[in-house]
Amino acid sequence: MRALCWHGKGDVRVDTVPDPKIEHPRDAIIRITACAICGSDLHLFDGYQPTMESGDILGHENMGVVIELGSEVTNLKVGDRVVVPFTISCGQCWFCQKGLFSLCDRTNPNAEMAIKAMGHSPAGLFGFSHMLGGYSGGQAEYLRVPMADVGPIKVPDNLTDEQALFLSDIFPTGYMAAENAQIKDGDTVAVWGCGPVGQFAIRAARMMGAGRMIAIDEVPERLAMAEAGGAETIDFSKCDVYDELMVRTKGRGPDSCIDAVGCEAAGHGAVDAVMDKAKAAVGLATDRVHVLREAIFSCRKGGTISVPGVYVGMGDKLPIGAAMNKGLTFKMGQTHVQAYTQPLLKIIEAGKIDPSFVVTHTTSLEDAPEMYQKFRDKEDGVIKVVLRP
Ligand code: NAD
Ligand code: ZN
Repeated sequence: MRALCWHGKGDVRVDTVPDPKIEHPRDAIIRITACAICGSDLHLFDGYQPTMESGDILGHENMGVVIELGSEVTNLKVGDRVVVPFTISCGQCWFCQKGLFSLCDRTNPNAEMAIKAMGHSPAGLFGFSHMLGGYSGGQAEYLRVPMADVGPIKVPDNLTDEQALFLSDIFPTGYMAAENAQIKDGDTVAVWGCGPVGQFAIRAARMMGAGRMIAIDEVPERLAMAEAGGAETIDFSKCDVYDELMVRTKGRGPDSCIDAVGCEAAGHGAVDAVMDKAKAAVGLATDRVHVLREAIFSCRKGGTISVPGVYVGMGDKLPIGAAMNKGLTFKMGQTHVQAYTQPLLKIIEAGKIDPSFVVTHTTSLEDAPEMYQKFRDKEDGVIKVVLRP
């Protein structure tokens, strides 16, 4: 089959590779009909995740049609149209039983590596490094889906691929980011990053009763999309974000701050320089934590910081003293996608949101390398790319 493979920093190619096969009775094989490129893929593209190997297949936002099933998958049939969570979860361990699917204890075959780096191992993820399982992703013609009796959900016929696809990741991620922000009626919520995750966080914050959403980015079309979602905006390239937030909140600061940027935050060379220094046990580089620092400084006393943005290494230079003395609450993590798929499908079916609003480009798998570069460099108005293998 054809598949988008990682070959090094800034080097992804569509290669011909062996088709996936059923390896376990709980596996399914799906023929991918649509998959998307995510901001998380950019961390791999930009070489921030050191446990990648040449030839790894990327892609964790996937949907398609079931073509083969392992003997223990009884809830799906060949021919079913499904969307697949990016988190691979057993559904049975202590964490899955509590709905903490991205922290599943059983799906990372490389748990030892993760424990060495982080103290414990989270769940395996599709197409997201060997540290998190080394599973092949779905930016390909076919995908092996482990734990297929837990993750994939059937898509109703009346929804298009573009309306259902983002249940795999960014709609649940934006939604959980807003939940983690602990929004109360009328609250002011600042959202750093108007990429796809920030866009869904803004819309989820509004659904949860936020009075004001203040969206921060520098890309005009992304700021415009945030405005269309009901947010006020700040262009961080034109002002000091902390000062501007203090003006807009009369010195108190936003009640909640959402970091929907993660480790590739633009700007502030002093923080960037830290990247080149510390190397931890398994060779992890230190992240740029610029947005997180800005959020800690801006958040009102007693407020909440929610971090959907991905950090792949050691969060150095974090002003933890400021966070402690301001009494902040932090909530963060990879999304527990399986906990959100059914409730959010209902929200889509009820017509409360059409997730396809975020799609700016739909193209073939063969165009993926070019689209990675355009998405990273924010060219041609790219906000969300859907690939149709
Ligand atoms: P994206 O790269 O499209 O969006 C990031 C946005 O941040 C861009 O629009 C960029 O212009 C903006 N930005 C850069 N520096 C900034 C700064 N200093 N201040 C404000 N904005 C700044 O990515 P995305 O797909 O929207 O994903 C956003 C983050 O969410 C990524 O880190 C991604 O890895 C993460 N993510 C996490 C989960 C999860 O489960 N927690 C799931 C999906 C994505
Ligand atoms: Zn993603």
